Amino acid sequence: MHEPANADRLPLMACHECDHLYRLPNLADRSLARCQRCGTILARGMKNSLDKTLAYTLTALVLFMIANTYPILGLKAAGQEQHYTLFSGALVLVQYNLWEVSVTVFLTSILFPLLHILGLLYTLLPLRGARLPRYFIPVFKVALSTLPWSMVGVYMLGVLVSIVKLADLATVVPGLGLYALVGLLLASVAAAASLDPLSIWQLADRLRRER
Ligand SMILES: [Zn+2]
Repeated sequence: MHEPANADRLPLMACHECDHLYRLPNLADRSLARCQRCGTILARGMKNSLDKTLAYTLTALVLFMIANTYPILGLKAAGQEQHYTLFSGALVLVQYNLWEVSVTVFLTSILFPLLHILGLLYTLLPLRGARLPRYFIPVFKVALSTLPWSMVGVYMLGVLVSIVKLADLATVVPGLGLYALVGLLLASVAAAASLDPLSIWQLADRLRRER
């Protein structure tokens, strides 16, 4: 990666492996910038990265609302059928004294995905219209850091269903909310794959200096 001619106007970034400093220009679509010292990928060029990320994030928001409105699963036992939403499911766990599991389900399936989605919308929607939102830096950091935790939610749910099944407590019937939750995971992965944090930081930095 050689330095571009107008390098002094670009923000500095360090290679996260060897700390060598670079000023990166905007990259062409599907291109890669590698560290010339250690070969680590510094950034990827992605076409319409912002638009794609926003589209997937809006999809994720709709799926999040469905996942939280409709039952994720029904349990059939002794001729009775109970339906649980994500929230009522987390509450039921408290009744069984499973506080830790309940809090983990609430955080990873409800709170963190919501923070992640709203954080991305709060930061990226204004950026798309060339406006810098007031709390851009802390909110974008929260949006980036809550993503891995949102992924754990679906895993937690899988574990829960296996426990119920293994213990032969009841027949598990998947609900519409569960499908929405899986869709939410896919939309979040797609949004994360289209997101190019470096170009977002650079755009934000440019808007801040133009203000
Ligand atoms: Zn390096």
